[in-house]
Amino acid sequence: MADKLISVDPSTGKKIAGYAIDNEKKVTAALITATEAFAKWRKQPYSKRAKVLNNIAKELRKQKERLAILATQEMGKPIQQGREEVEKCAVTLEYYANEGEGFLKDIHVKTDATKSYVTYQPLGVILAIMPWNFPYWQVFRAFAPTIMAGNVMVLKHASNVSGCAVAIEELIIKAGAPKGLLQTFLLPSSRIEKIIEHPAVAAVTLTGSTAAGRKVAEAAGRSLKKQVLELGGSDAYIILDDADIEAAAQICVDGRLKNSGQSCVAAKRFIVTKNTKKAFEEAMTRRMEAATWGDPMNDANKVGPMARHDLRDQLHEQVIKSIEMGAKLLCGGYIPKDKGAYYPTTVLTDVVKGMPAHDEELFGPVAAIIVAKNEADAMRIANDNEYGLGGAIIGKNIAKAEKMAVEEMEAGSIFINDFVHSDQRLPFGGVKHSGYGREIGEFGIKEFVNIKTIYIK
Ligand code: NAP
Repeated sequence: MADKLISVDPSTGKKIAGYAIDNEKKVTAALITATEAFAKWRKQPYSKRAKVLNNIAKELRKQKERLAILATQEMGKPIQQGREEVEKCAVTLEYYANEGEGFLKDIHVKTDATKSYVTYQPLGVILAIMPWNFPYWQVFRAFAPTIMAGNVMVLKHASNVSGCAVAIEELIIKAGAPKGLLQTFLLPSSRIEKIIEHPAVAAVTLTGSTAAGRKVAEAAGRSLKKQVLELGGSDAYIILDDADIEAAAQICVDGRLKNSGQSCVAAKRFIVTKNTKKAFEEAMTRRMEAATWGDPMNDANKVGPMARHDLRDQLHEQVIKSIEMGAKLLCGGYIPKDKGAYYPTTVLTDVVKGMPAHDEELFGPVAAIIVAKNEADAMRIANDNEYGLGGAIIGKNIAKAEKMAVEEMEAGSIFINDFVHSDQRLPFGGVKHSGYGREIGEFGIKEFVNIKTIYIK
């Protein structure tokens, strides 16, 4: 089976499909097709591009149930969250169909010239390397702005969601998109460097781990190709002393358990002071224990299995090591007797620097509570981390929280009194080891364009 990418249902551990890996000839042919498609697509008016995006949105909605089931089978997403993910993709396609032209309008600048202005022109074939956690959203949030700007895309999806990758390509074709607008490669990551270096590829966008980001940036840097890197995160939630602790715990649990805890912007570190520690621990543990986990096809379950058994085992190791180093376990923290890659909702407290639960990303339903001396110390702890993707501040004094968010917290998105989530109208991305560049919003459509100056004497 080494010539295949294997999909395994994480809720049973059973293989469900094998996808033949593309040979060199197929990859080269796809890159030629993409280059030819770009030459035509870039000349299409915005109205034509918008029509194609709207048609893809319609097709996504038509196939919503099938796509949601496929994601559940391949990576264990609770089925209702899969339906919501597909809907979000459709909304984002429509957003760029409506707004894209306005975002890319020429900007006239008064200079010594008779006429001088800035025009946004597409770059070419964009390679998208995407993760399994939101198998549709990650692709479409990159695809919609990139395509509206006049580029075309080739996709290398995560090896465990090849079924979703194939379904994406098929539905785009079914929606009547021109040949080559998006093509899926079925390849292991070891074959990607050569594609990044291929002259047909203009730029790369990666959503994935920081380790993969380093490799992709190295390869792209060698060929001087632009990259957008959306990498890992360990979002800190600061609970201010004046917060309503029950409401705060609800926000924290919702933020922690989204996508069974496997989201880059999931709430991961919860920072309280000793004044609220006890009440917060109690409110968090009660809610985490009440969150139902199990069969992802059952709508009643909030949390499904982890996407792969190895990822579940890795998460458990981080929990055990943190406990060995002095963290206190308030609930969960064991491997269930089930064939699926399940992990129970888990709360750790008294987490300190040096422990995996403090320093590393916990990609699953595990909450790490950290106690700060005071609110200033809470901000110090929040920033004392290699990541800088998102963060939240919860409290009643909005003016104080806003000042802390704007001036102090080191992250790409800060939410006050809500959990961090993406919205197609707002830019999304990180600082520090969470990567660089922005997706979605007006900034997202300006990543893969040539910001061209025209000067007429
Ligand atoms: P991953 O192992 O880095 O994989 C992501 C993608 O990169 C997959 O398609 C993978 O292919 C590919 N890849 C891995 N190593 C590569 C290499 N050396 N060269 C080229 N491609 C490579 O990440 P994951 O486990 O799927 O996803 C979890 C991580 O993604 C977490 O750290 C999470 O925080 C991050 N993430 C970030 C965001 C964001 O917006 N910032 C969003 C979601 C997830 P294979 O599957 O074939 O290895």
